[in-house]
Amino acid sequence: MTKEEDIPDWVGAQEFYDKYDPKEILGRGVSSVVRRCVDKHTTQEYAVKIIDITPSDTLTGQEIEEIRAATTKEIDILKMVCGQENIIQLKDCYESQAFFFLVFDLMKRGELFDYLTEKVTLSEKETRKIMRALLEVVQVLHSQNIVHRDLKPENILLDDEMNIKLTDFGFSVQIRPEQKLAEVCGTPGYLAPEIIECSMNTAHVGYDTAVDIWSSGVIMYTLLAGSPPFWHRKQLLMLRMILAGKYDFSSPEWEDRSDTVKDLISRMLVVDPKQRYTATDALNHPFFSQYVVAEVRQFSPYRRFKVICMTVLATMRIYCNYRRAKPVTKEVIKSDPYAVKPIRKLIDACAFKIYGHWVKKGQTQNRAALFENSPKFVLLALAAEADDSPLHTW
Ligand code: ADP
Ligand code: MG
Repeated sequence: MTKEEDIPDWVGAQEFYDKYDPKEILGRGVSSVVRRCVDKHTTQEYAVKIIDITPSDTLTGQEIEEIRAATTKEIDILKMVCGQENIIQLKDCYESQAFFFLVFDLMKRGELFDYLTEKVTLSEKETRKIMRALLEVVQVLHSQNIVHRDLKPENILLDDEMNIKLTDFGFSVQIRPEQKLAEVCGTPGYLAPEIIECSMNTAHVGYDTAVDIWSSGVIMYTLLAGSPPFWHRKQLLMLRMILAGKYDFSSPEWEDRSDTVKDLISRMLVVDPKQRYTATDALNHPFFSQYVVAEVRQFSPYRRFKVICMTVLATMRIYCNYRRAKPVTKEVIKSDPYAVKPIRKLIDACAFKIYGHWVKKGQTQNRAALFENSPKFVLLALAAEADDSPLHTW
């Protein structure tokens, strides 16, 4: 790129405005705004990330230089990973003294974060598709010693066919083999324990690519449970939970999830980065070998016999589960409605429909708050009063 003093303020910006028409805002970051834009010649739509580096009261000269250096690094990494089908493609970039313009393919379906808010929780099947693609991307990045450092559903976009595209390489860095990092960056709920340790202990050995696997584990847990594994209203306590690797599969959402998926998550959310799965280990886990569409194969009597046995076993399991299911009586609904799966799903869906817009992103994510469902004493008292009332009709 041309040296700063060689660029008149408007040059890069003018080039951008000559070629593209900026439209409405699609998203915002700490120092960027992402807008839809249209190529004036082809009418093709794109997304442009506009990074503001205008000196102001809130931005010191040194901070501007830091943003400029970080953006140049982001562009370099985007060029390095160009061509991977699940990574956003950088189409064009312009730099002026006041702005950077990074033009990307437009992802009309937006963020995985908003999709999850709309769906409340995802099925294992859908989670498998998303996580396989994400881990394949992470595998490619790690094979080039690139650490993303900000994996989270806000930075995973969806294309028209609901395929994921990883974006926001603003914190990404390429390290030398064996090199360790110590800089604290990322988003609190997704931070690996070793990053938090680095912030507390300057003598810490540092962290490497394994932090992305931790964040991937947090994402996977969140997709299936609807709420994150580590969350507390007080951020300090949340960070302590992360340091201790304290999470569980106790919420009702986990009742229907397979042991295989829980096993994979528990191998990604391992506090010791040396014991943690790598992207390749995770992709080789049985969770990803389930339901692979078989190619047309030759008839095999053994395989046919195996399929018949598995079908019989599955049918028996479904029957036994059905017999074990508690009948839904008026009493059950009154005493603990949240324990009844269809009612729980309905309550959660309604809560997200009404309050979904309130689910915050980034630093103060509070998705978990919508799942906090301990009965309020006031409501219980009202219910008891209603029970005693002669007009009460259930
Ligand atoms: P930041 O580094 O400031 O977080 P991002 O690159 O993550 O910036 O972009 C911020 C938001 O803008 C994203 O979370 C997303 O909602 C939206 N966005 C970014 N790129 C695209 C795109 N190519 N298509 C559609 N929306 C996008
Ligand atoms: Mg982002």
